[in-house]
Amino acid sequence: MADGTTADVSLREARSVLRACRLCPRCCGADRLSGQKGFCGAGDAPRVFRRGPHHGEEPPLSGTRGSGTVFFSRCTLACLYCQNFPWSQEGRGADWPPGRLAETLRELRRAGCHNWNMVSPTPWLPWIVEALEAAKRDGPGLPVVYNTSGFERPQVLRALAGTVDVYLTDLRYARAASAAEGSGFGGYAETAREALRVMWAQAGPLRTDADGIATGGTICRLLVLPNRADEAVANLEWIAATVGTELAVSVMAQYVPAHRAAATPSWERPVTREEYGRVCDAAERLGFDNGWIQDFGRRTPDELVGYRMREDT
Ligand code: SF4
Repeated sequence: MADGTTADVSLREARSVLRACRLCPRCCGADRLSGQKGFCGAGDAPRVFRRGPHHGEEPPLSGTRGSGTVFFSRCTLACLYCQNFPWSQEGRGADWPPGRLAETLRELRRAGCHNWNMVSPTPWLPWIVEALEAAKRDGPGLPVVYNTSGFERPQVLRALAGTVDVYLTDLRYARAASAAEGSGFGGYAETAREALRVMWAQAGPLRTDADGIATGGTICRLLVLPNRADEAVANLEWIAATVGTELAVSVMAQYVPAHRAAATPSWERPVTREEYGRVCDAAERLGFDNGWIQDFGRRTPDELVGYRMREDT
C-alpha cells in the first residue's frame, strides 16, 4: 500500500524507502539507490548547501543564540519565485559522507543553538532520522524543527511522531491554478492543508520555555504573493474554521520576484503594502492572537522582524 491514506512509512527502512521514493506527495518512485534522481533531483547521499546558527527565523526559534539550521539542497516543489533556487532547484551544495550530518548536529549543539532546524528535509529523511538518533546518543537532544513548504504526505508525517518537536510549515495557495503555475503542483492547497492537520494533531500549539524559546508545537507561515492576497486570506479563514486560531501564524511580506518570476506576468512585482495589510487585517479580524507579522519594506529572510499581533491578556 505504497500510497494509501492509512499506511505508514518506516523511515528506518531507508533502503526500501529509497528504492522507489515516495517521501513527498509527488511519489515519483525514483530508484535513488540505483543512480536515478527523483523529480526533486535528490540522489543517494544527503546534499547540503549551508549549515550554522541562523537568526532570521521567528523569534522563538532564533532566540538569542540562533537556530541550528541545516539547509539541504534540492526541494520537492519547483517555485518559480524561489529565492533559494541555486541550491533548491539547481542543486548547489555538497554530498555529505556517512556521519557528517550527525557531527554537524553536534557542532550546532556545541555552538549553543536553541534547536536543530532541518530546512527542506523531506527528500533526506532517512539520513536525518539516523543522524538525530546518533547525536542524541552522546549528548542532550535539542528541539527538532521540521522546516517545510507544507508539501508533505500524511504517512511520512506520522512516521515522524516522536522525532519532530516543532513543525514550521507553509500554506501558500488556495487556488489550483496559482499552485500549478507557482510551484508546479496544482493540488498543493489540499495537500498542504491536510499536512497541517496532521502536524497539528501530532504537535499541537506552540510551546515555549521560560525564555520564550520554542520547545514544541506548530507554526504556519503565510507568504503573501502578488495578486494573490485573497488566497492567503482564504487560508487564514480555513485555518480558523478547521485547525483553530490557537495556531501561531507568521504572515510574511518578503516576496520578491526572484528566479523566473521576474519574467512571468502576475508574479513579476513585489507585494504591495495594501495586499500585505489585507492579510494582516484578516489575521486580526479572525482572532489569531499568536504569531508575527513583518516590518513591511524589509524584505530579506534574514530581516524578519517579529512581534505579537495582539498582547496576550
Ligand atoms: S522526495 Fe524527491 S525523489 Fe522522493 S518522491 Fe519526492 S520528488 Fe521523488
